Amino acid sequence: MSGHKMVQRLPPLPTIKDILRLYNLRAMKQLSQNFIMESRITDKIAKVAGDISGGHVCEVGPGPGNITRSIINRNPKSILLVEKDRRFLPPLEMLAEAAPCPVKIVVGDILTVNMESLFPQEEAKVWTDSPPNIHLIGNLPFNVATPLIIRWLRCISEKSSAWKMGRVRMTLTFQKEVAERMVAPILTKERCRLSVMAQNWCHIEHRFNIPGKAFVPKPDVDVGVVHFVPLVTPLIELPFELVEKVARCMFSFRQKHCIKCFANLFPKATRDSYVRRLLEDAEIPYDMRSFQLTMPEIRRVCFAYQRILDETPILNKYNYRKHLDADMDSILEDEERGVVSL
Ligand code: SAM
Repeated sequence: MSGHKMVQRLPPLPTIKDILRLYNLRAMKQLSQNFIMESRITDKIAKVAGDISGGHVCEVGPGPGNITRSIINRNPKSILLVEKDRRFLPPLEMLAEAAPCPVKIVVGDILTVNMESLFPQEEAKVWTDSPPNIHLIGNLPFNVATPLIIRWLRCISEKSSAWKMGRVRMTLTFQKEVAERMVAPILTKERCRLSVMAQNWCHIEHRFNIPGKAFVPKPDVDVGVVHFVPLVTPLIELPFELVEKVARCMFSFRQKHCIKCFANLFPKATRDSYVRRLLEDAEIPYDMRSFQLTMPEIRRVCFAYQRILDETPILNKYNYRKHLDADMDSILEDEERGVVSL
């Protein structure tokens, strides 16, 4: 026997187009369903996840199972599918039967599914070790993908949920503009709160774009495929809430000096003195703008803010925005417009 791994592939199956016709599956607008028809593209997405052979994969939003097919062909040990729309159960069950590895289907919402015990415990790795052979892959609707990554970044920061298993990697799709924001370096117009949050906890790569025309029905925008690997140590080792609050204030007025932005961390009455103290402690000139601040500079601001909170904990209760957990899309919109509700 040669040392080659045995690669088991799927038997010939009806095309995705035939599956959609056979089961009378029309894309539902309210679930923002857009299907990728070309296996060349779904293969490319599965490839971005890296070497998944012998690993455990959770695919979110499999729909008719097109990316699932590409995942199966890369020889994982098991696959778990989380799909909200139960109309996809019959084609997914058919695929599960044909697959050479166990495929479990969960009908549910990925935003509420408990991900703590989804994977075999023996695959867990300590955080400082290399990532476990466990992968999260998904082509989700845009309105789900962005809140989901924020939620997952929080879990990564706490090493909770799926990240109890170690530094589980993710391959996810986003609206191209959001993918660009996530990887945006300083001094770019795309730099925003999401760049700071994502880059603080993960190594991120925007690997390729899928043109809108590759989907049925065709969305108005192109799609970016992004790969995330949680960092062993975040650049700013402070609680998610604190970093998020600082990052949110930072980008509250994009074109204004950062003294004006960071002032929103403090109640009006004491704002002036606290914000000066914050920036002096962090050694940041008052007239810098948010998109000019490097991660080490943002880190200094976060730690300076933490020191102020340690001294006066009541300030922690102050939130210039009432709904910290508001939908990310509206937050992104606000960031774009430079609007802040006090
Ligand atoms: N994977 C297929 C593809 O790439 O062609 C379908 C992608 S379609 C953009 C998104 C899929 O995610 C749909 O099947 C939809 O029903 C499912 N979905 C939407 N919201 C979801 C949620 N909250 N949890 C799980 N699945 C969801």
